[in-house]
Amino acid sequence: MSKKEFLKPDLSIEQLSEELVITNLKLQQANQQLQQEQQARNEMFSNISHDLRAPVTAIKNSIALLSALDDYDSNTVQPIVHLMEQRVNTLEKMINDIFFLVSAENNFLSIHPEEIPLGFFLEDYFFSQEADCKYDDRHLHLALAEYFPYTLTIDPHQLQRILDNLFTNAWKYSKSGDSITLGAFCKDDTIFIYVEDTGIGIADAHLPNIFKRSYVVDSARTPGVSSTGLGLSITKALVELFDGTISCTSTLGLGSRFTIAFPLPQS
Ligand code: ADP
Repeated sequence: MSKKEFLKPDLSIEQLSEELVITNLKLQQANQQLQQEQQARNEMFSNISHDLRAPVTAIKNSIALLSALDDYDSNTVQPIVHLMEQRVNTLEKMINDIFFLVSAENNFLSIHPEEIPLGFFLEDYFFSQEADCKYDDRHLHLALAEYFPYTLTIDPHQLQRILDNLFTNAWKYSKSGDSITLGAFCKDDTIFIYVEDTGIGIADAHLPNIFKRSYVVDSARTPGVSSTGLGLSITKALVELFDGTISCTSTLGLGSRFTIAFPLPQS
């Protein structure tokens, strides 16, 4: 057999294009089915987390009632009640996080963007964190130019949630005496806001994965810290809702900087 004969296709051009159309149709159907399955799965997550809230609230209320009783042996019962309280709070946070993440990823969140003066907003946010006794043994810094005249069109509650997640992580993954800095600057029509810490840092190998849903670096390195791996995926979903991006640079043992970037509105 000559080389030419070997390469000759068995099907005519017409047959080949017909095959192509059929394969394309099958692909489209598979894609549609995949989307429907994804939608069904998201709805299921959303319903489950919604339904779980009621029993968790009931358990929380019962624990509150129990701890208010004064006719039990407090030395024995109090630590148990305290443990129950901690666990149920973690459970409640996980349920809320799953509900929130699914809502954010499916645009179910009710968003109320408004034009906010960023300098004032960040200053206010910083001072509210400074007043929180949780940060008493950390050094908090604000790195913001005195004149910072930029505005962003964003839902202030969601921006607060983004910063809360980054601040909570900066606290969780640092220790007494470490620093946490909130900073912002403008470059090339983009606003950059960052939260930097001098905490435990993240190894290069983990950096590409930390924004993935449920990714936890290594819970053994921070014993006693509750880790669900949902915080950063929620933060990323929220930042993207407002056309922003989020990135992280980190050095193991020295600290991390999480930066969010939003395009400045065209004036
Ligand atoms: P969680 O903190 O609940 O585990 P996140 O999605 O917020 O979930 O973070 C994912 C992982 O990224 C964490 O397990 C943690 O190891 C790492 N990480 C996040 N923020 C920091 C930080 N500021 N310093 C060091 N590691 C961090």
